Formats: sequence, C-alpha cells, structure tokens
Amino acid sequence: MEEFYIGTVDAVILGSSIAFSGLFYYLYRKKCKTVDKLNDAPHMALNEELVGLLNATPGKCLQYVVIEGTVQAIEEPLRSPFKEGTFGVIQKLLLQEHKLVWNSLARTWMDREHVLHERVSSVPFALVGGDGAQVRVLRPLEASGPEMETVHEKFHQANYGFGDLLSQYLSGEKSKGQLETEEMLRVGVSITAAGELILDSDRLLKLRPPTDGSTYFLTTTDFESLRLGQEGQASCWWSLAGIFALVGVAVVLWAGFRSYRKIQRKWQREQMRREFERIGEGEEDLENACVICLSNPRGCVLLDCGHVCCCYSCYEALPQPTCPVCRQGIRRVVPLYQA
Ligand SMILES: [Zn+2]
Ligand SMILES: [Zn+2]
Repeated sequence: MEEFYIGTVDAVILGSSIAFSGLFYYLYRKKCKTVDKLNDAPHMALNEELVGLLNATPGKCLQYVVIEGTVQAIEEPLRSPFKEGTFGVIQKLLLQEHKLVWNSLARTWMDREHVLHERVSSVPFALVGGDGAQVRVLRPLEASGPEMETVHEKFHQANYGFGDLLSQYLSGEKSKGQLETEEMLRVGVSITAAGELILDSDRLLKLRPPTDGSTYFLTTTDFESLRLGQEGQASCWWSLAGIFALVGVAVVLWAGFRSYRKIQRKWQREQMRREFERIGEGEEDLENACVICLSNPRGCVLLDCGHVCCCYSCYEALPQPTCPVCRQGIRRVVPLYQA
C-alpha cells in the first residue's frame, strides 16, 4: 500500500525491537529448557550404593543428575597466599585499577574500573558424601558457578605529588588505587551439582559437563535456590521479549495512525479543490481573474481579512498563509458562491 508510510527512524526502531524481542524470546526458551531439565533430573544420594547403581545402568552413564556433596581436593589443595590456613580447589586472583575519568559531557569525574591482572587456577577435586563416597568433578571451570568466597580484599591507595596532579589535569584521568581480591572455592564447602554422571573404567564416579549440551551447574546454594534462580532468569527474559514486542506493535500502530491522518487530509484537500473548480467552471469574465495567475476566476474568500483575490490553486501555492493583498494571516478559506 503506497499510503502506508514508515519513516527511517520508525523502521530502525521497529527492526531493532523485532530483533531484540526475538533474541530475548530465544533466551527465554533456552532458559525454560534448562529449568525443565533441572525439574526432570533425578536427585542421586552420594553414597556407596551409587557405584552399583551406575554399574547396572546401560552405558554406565546417567545423562543429567543432581548430586550434593562436600568439596575435597584429590591431591594437594591450593593455599591462599594472603590468608593463613585457607585452602581451596578453585582460586581467582584479581587486580583491578580504580580510576576517575573526566566526562566532558556531564562535566564531572566518573568512576571506572579496569582489570590489570586476572588468574584462575584449579586443582582436581571431588564431592564427598556422608559415608565417604566420592564423585570426581571434571572441568569445573566450564560450569555455571560455583559462587566463590572472597577470602582477601585489599585496596592500595594511590599517592601522588604535584607533577601527577598536573598530568591528571591534562590527561583527564586520575588513579584512585588498586583493588586486590582473592576468591576461592574452599575445601569443605557444600556443593549442589547438576551434570552427567559416569562410572569410568577405573570404577571411579565422575561428574562432567553434559554431552547433550544441557547446562552444567556447580553451586554453593541448595537445589531449590538454583531452580528458583533459573526460573527468575527465564521470567526476566520473557518480560524483556514482551516489552520489545509491545514497542514494535506501538511503532506499527503509530505509523498506521499517521498514514490514516495523511490520507484523510489529502482527501479533504481534494474535496475542497473540486468544490472550488465547480464554482470556477463556466466563468470566462477575466475582469474577475485571480491576481496571481491572472487566468482562473477568483474562487475563494480569505478570512479574516475577507479579500476575494485569488483562485484556490494559487491559494494552495502561497509560500506563507498570508493574504496576497493585505498580508494579514489567513486563518480559514471558504469557497465563494456567486448566485
Ligand atoms: Zn490563480
Ligand atoms: Zn487581505
């Protein structure tokens, strides 16, 4: 339809709202699958009978199970360099610089952080059940989680002299200092895990990222919190998809409304022109000719001044809505009927 007109800005908003809505809907569906998987996953008790159970399972593999246990390093655990007597199996050392950057638009200093150095290390570990049964956790860094505990945090304040102040003024950046943190998954912490459980050839139970692409979870919270957290994320994606879909619908409605108004105005102008043409027909008396084109009969009364000086097409072509005779503004124009 030729009259249905969408401007560039509308088209960009419409296109991006459709794209975002689609993306968030995709993320929502994905999250729903994860929640369904978690709901369907059997909860295995970590004890000595588990080896027998897996031995009897075809392929000695359970595709997606939930299992709980306490973290224990298989060999030597990692030792915290900052806190005496703290041992863990995953360690993350982070050095961040905190600085103030001058924002010339807001005319104020803004906080910025950037990572100077980051190191993640891990040692092989297992989850241990009540009666000493163990499940070795493979590739823990590929899992979603676990939440690490901050065992050390120290802020090193920056000191500066006069020269530094000058360079800060010139560069628009000043360092506040450096934040040193150490996070750890400590030995002895309870973990809820969801993943693929296998009984390896060495008769050891192992948990690994699911081969069917489901999410591998290691979390220090309980199963219920894990499930609720995932459901919360799903409804968040759902709401975002809905909001962007509504924006798209609003743009289409707005463009439709504008096109309707445009057609209406065009139709009204057409009606008026016909009316004036009808009046003009048959009048050959050029004494009464329009002062602008000097050919058509004068067909309209300009209000409020009341001058009858031009034809309707010349009135429409006026650069400004002012009377060509007296320059008064035209508020309304009415057809001139001569009886
Ligand atoms: Zn004219
Ligand atoms: Zn006038």
